[in-house]
Amino acid sequence: MSLWLPPQLYAASPPALRATGSTGKAATDFDLPARRPAGETVRASQHRAGCTDAAATPAPRLARATARRYPVSVLKQASSSPVVHHAALALRPSACPGLLRIVAARDGGLCRIKLPGGALSAAQARAIADASVQHAAGTIEVTNRANLQVRGVRGGHEAALIEALIEAELGPSGALTSARPGPTPTMATAEASHVDTSAAYASTALAADDVRNVMISPAAGRDPFALFDTAPLCNELLALLQSEPRFAALSPKFALLLDGGEKLARVDHPHDVWLAATQGPDDVRFVFGLAGCPPDAGSPHANHGGALSAVLPSQVCALIGAVLHTFLDLAATDATRMRHLLATHAADALLHHAQRYVDFPLSRDASLAGWQRATRADASLRLGASDQRQPGTWHAGGQPPLGRLDAATLHGLATLAHLHGDGTLRMTPWQSVLLPDIATHAVAAVINGLTELGLATDPAQAITRVMACAGSTGCARSLADTKADALRLAPRLPADVDVHLSGCPRSCAAAHCVPFTLLAVAPGTYDLYRRNGQPGFGACVAHRLTIDEASDALTRLAHIDAPIDIPVDTHIHDAAEPRPRTKPMSNPDA
Ligand code: SF4
Repeated sequence: MSLWLPPQLYAASPPALRATGSTGKAATDFDLPARRPAGETVRASQHRAGCTDAAATPAPRLARATARRYPVSVLKQASSSPVVHHAALALRPSACPGLLRIVAARDGGLCRIKLPGGALSAAQARAIADASVQHAAGTIEVTNRANLQVRGVRGGHEAALIEALIEAELGPSGALTSARPGPTPTMATAEASHVDTSAAYASTALAADDVRNVMISPAAGRDPFALFDTAPLCNELLALLQSEPRFAALSPKFALLLDGGEKLARVDHPHDVWLAATQGPDDVRFVFGLAGCPPDAGSPHANHGGALSAVLPSQVCALIGAVLHTFLDLAATDATRMRHLLATHAADALLHHAQRYVDFPLSRDASLAGWQRATRADASLRLGASDQRQPGTWHAGGQPPLGRLDAATLHGLATLAHLHGDGTLRMTPWQSVLLPDIATHAVAAVINGLTELGLATDPAQAITRVMACAGSTGCARSLADTKADALRLAPRLPADVDVHLSGCPRSCAAAHCVPFTLLAVAPGTYDLYRRNGQPGFGACVAHRLTIDEASDALTRLAHIDAPIDIPVDTHIHDAAEPRPRTKPMSNPDA
């Protein structure tokens, strides 16, 4: 049976967005103001979001440039109907990819599939693998928010790809039934009689897809250290986000973290609202904070905004609703993230405002000021086998190189999950894959299977400590082929050193503070930064390194514990002065 899809779904982005350099930035600071008054003109400058090029270029000129630079047409103009065209322009303007909003990248269209809690069934994994071959280049990426994205969507295949993914129940809630307005309409009759319905549906579906941003541990409900199984609560929050019409005004990047206290947990990604389970004298409660991360001894450089208060698990959804309404009540139209609101309103004022939306006390609890997670997070548990809280069961995980899978590998993972696990897969925010519920006798077979599929299962494997953005093959902004350079660097990486290669300062691959960052300045050439506790990449400690030179520099720096805090200006050469090929390390001891 063929799905009828409102054309707006795959022609949703304004023309200016059709030539982004986007590669799927997961945690950028740049975003659109989502709360535009009805009828307000959308300026080109409003279209800047994530790692897109669209904003700076007027649409017609951009379109011509795009046609020259990117032969693949990735956003299909499905209908010449002026109503449809108007509706498409009026839809949520954003350069963030989604399942229903395929945006352009240098290597074709980019379609992001948001997974509830990072989970998908083996059948859904197979559907994504097959669709990626039929409609795209066959490359699938695990994102650093535990989602999947299909790269290289071919021009003219957008609707078919979306249809395949919705049929696999990977779309926002209600997409499958709502995408069929009326009794099996043809495209022609539907367009004539259901324009209003389809436009409304397209807008609603896009918003529902955009707001599905709740992160939990990939081992939720299974981690022996977990204080609370967050998976059901995550589903409740996702339902809330998609069902409240007002929340459609939230930015596609507005994100929640729900931490159950697991040891396998990513708690160094800043979130707009975070909640973390804590054991009280009588019961489990959720401590929460705004615009930051749960304080964790294992993430000393993360943005710990500090805990504000705590609520019962049964109050979490009401709390989130109250906080989101408060954000929408008080934030200026160009304030898209919680940190923007905190720049103009004290946290206590926000709690005071939120109180009107809940029937339980909501005020700062000073006793939580120094609260920390009881369990130190350990990212290495994503690799290899770890026992679950359910006796006799394990989860096993592997890291695909630089987070990329091909269709055959995804099929292989689905087979492993089907044969030895519970038939589901978990994507992790370290761009890796976890297979849960494996019986003890099957652990060796699964680890062997992951290895045969090319996934690293041992934290000692250097490839597990390297991350890279899409680079110049996928992003027009990149000054280097970061993916290829990362693969070259990995075999020469010293033990226990984590490094991040970024094609430009936008840092798409890393939402957290990485110990070392190589920032591209030219093809195959990078400046080296070391984390120093400040926002951003840290201190620049060497300029214009080749990959081999970067390897040597990292080897030397790996033995120096203290962060090197030297201003970058120290190393900037006069423009007329040729820069040396190899910059001496900044640390006087190096
Ligand atoms: S070059 Fe890399 S970091 Fe910069 S926008 Fe492109 S993908 Fe993002």
